[in-house]
Amino acid sequence: MSSSKVDIGFLEDKNSWLLHPRFFPSKVGGKPAWLDLQNLPLPTKLTCKICNDPLIFLCQIYAPYEESKDCFHRTIFIFICKNGSCCKTNTSENILVLRCQLTRENIFYETEPYKENENEEFSMDNWSKLCNICGIKAPSHCSKCKKTYYCSRKHQILDWQKGHKEICSQLNNPIQNNFLVTEAGKSILFKEWELVVDEEDDEDSPNTNIDIEMEKLNKLMQEKKAGTLSNVSENELEQYATPIPVDKVFKKFSKRVARHPDQVLRYERGGVPLWITGNCDNINVPNCPYCNGERQFELQVMPQLLNFINVGIDLNSIDWGVLVVYTCKKSCNAGPAYKEEFILKQDLTN
Ligand SMILES: [Zn+2]
Ligand SMILES: [Zn+2]
Ligand SMILES: [Zn+2]
Ligand SMILES: [Zn+2]
Repeated sequence: MSSSKVDIGFLEDKNSWLLHPRFFPSKVGGKPAWLDLQNLPLPTKLTCKICNDPLIFLCQIYAPYEESKDCFHRTIFIFICKNGSCCKTNTSENILVLRCQLTRENIFYETEPYKENENEEFSMDNWSKLCNICGIKAPSHCSKCKKTYYCSRKHQILDWQKGHKEICSQLNNPIQNNFLVTEAGKSILFKEWELVVDEEDDEDSPNTNIDIEMEKLNKLMQEKKAGTLSNVSENELEQYATPIPVDKVFKKFSKRVARHPDQVLRYERGGVPLWITGNCDNINVPNCPYCNGERQFELQVMPQLLNFINVGIDLNSIDWGVLVVYTCKKSCNAGPAYKEEFILKQDLTN
């Protein structure tokens, strides 16, 4: 049996200002808390490969490598397309993972931890302009007031419809780069949470009734598949309501998850993923495109996360079994500030 420790991520409510980049947060939803604040990926990079819509920030995990001075700060970011129709079984074309890292001495942050003081000055003036809606790099601005910035025409239109129209002519100062979610942002971003990471319990809880836990999980997955079925014919209903076949891998998955039923993340650098079902043979993890070195498993996002981020449950909402992330083993420094890593989506299929 493996003795390596797995860390587990849970969600907690937190004041948004405490999830500011200067606190190096792990978080879910809201706007990304970028690490390198200047060399952000272009919006064209953060675009869905299937429908071309802007990808939306899902979560980030702060995971420095203690032994490497290049990785004194290190964060993994995950973005996803919100269109359910781009979410195809066992493919991850609608998702993007980026890795960013910084040395302790850098132009963005002090070398010592920041005090938790809400009113502390942290100037963003010289850094990249951010989209008022989604918080990614914003190359364009409102042509009338020239005071708000957008990643794309789509988000500019959304902001206009959700209230910018009323304030556009009254804006005297540029809207400061702001990590807080605007009212218009709320309509499109995932609900914001802090992601708290802690060690997994060593042993299965003696009180765990594996059959009950499996039933709970199975029900959860089925509900997501079935969704709100108001517009669905009897035939379709039957199709979506068929129980998911219980394989050995799913049994193992359920048993391990029962130690911490609310887990939304598992972190085990260089470890092995906890697969949700048996169809995980022949995985071909491509080498790091920047150093050509091997990649290794680093973390996985669990299906439980879907219950916390207001995705809604219907046939056209995003879904996954597990999202498994592999990163460059050396966490190399080659390439752009935000380096693309490999993500695999495994679904429970009938
Ligand atoms: Zn899409
Ligand atoms: Zn945007
Ligand atoms: Zn304007
Ligand atoms: Zn590499």
